[in-house]
Amino acid sequence: MNSLGFLMKMKKIYLLIHSGCLLFCSLSFAQAPNPQSIALAKTVPIADLHLHTYSRNGPSSQDVVQRMNANNVRWGGGVGDLRQDIAESLGSRHIPAAGQREFAESFFRQGPSTLVATENLYFRDLFGNAHDLFAAGTIKGFGELHTNNESSGPKPFRRNIRTDNPAMRKFYDIANDFGGFIQIHAQHNTEFTEDILRLAADYPNTITILSHCLPLAQPDDLANLFKQRKNIMCEMSATGELHNRLARVTRPGRAYNAQGLYTKWKALIEAFPDRIMLGSDMCCGWDAFYDEAITEIRTHFLPYLHPDVIEQVAYKNALRVFKIQF
Ligand SMILES: [Zn+2]
Repeated sequence: MNSLGFLMKMKKIYLLIHSGCLLFCSLSFAQAPNPQSIALAKTVPIADLHLHTYSRNGPSSQDVVQRMNANNVRWGGGVGDLRQDIAESLGSRHIPAAGQREFAESFFRQGPSTLVATENLYFRDLFGNAHDLFAAGTIKGFGELHTNNESSGPKPFRRNIRTDNPAMRKFYDIANDFGGFIQIHAQHNTEFTEDILRLAADYPNTITILSHCLPLAQPDDLANLFKQRKNIMCEMSATGELHNRLARVTRPGRAYNAQGLYTKWKALIEAFPDRIMLGSDMCCGWDAFYDEAITEIRTHFLPYLHPDVIEQVAYKNALRVFKIQF
């Protein structure tokens, strides 16, 4: 081998090591779980805060109840669509949310710019009825409202609008009168951080739930929000590997994978155990994977937490926030 060949070979070996490191060296995993946590994670009741029940091509209410029961998911909701049949089937197990259908219809028919307008034809009835719906317990919040999903999900559904805008302020204002929640799907960036801190301060009785624990956010970014505002929480759907696989995206799990929970995420959850909840997010026709979504959570995520924290994250936070009796 001549010297140029040798140099090329060394460069190739270096690049191989280096790219391997980019993938794996930044991910350090939490310690192997203890037997008590493994056992509890398998059986602990779960509140699913990202349980989609689309009105178009959605699951039947019987299917929703059957899947929840089969996985000991005791409570569910947090996102739309709001459906009467599901509300009736779930009764006090339901965490009903409105607004997703109206938000999506407005987006598809009028484009993203009108999503910020209070005088929006698609929001008119909802804004008119929402006080009565909250008062009657028919809804507990609004969601999932997508303000910025510019680099995730199906391309025709993407948009990027400010989260602090007049229409969102109207949603926050109504929810604030009832201690309700707003579940937002946004991506982490400086603008969003400013917006959500301002909204959470202006509407202290409204709980913000960040879908998927805020895509693109690092644990430090979430800690920054949790430290400054008591009324910001997040739900962990789509932070493992299953959703990437279903969406055919080659990306490691964001917070955990089959090897376990990443150390930085474990530290975040243990520092703010009262801010984290669970979600399945079987969106877009993935209903058949519900069992797999819950099994992933019970196998690759929950066992790495302390038993007290497992219970908080799995259901106790949800019972407290949504004022549900066990
Ligand atoms: Zn969703």
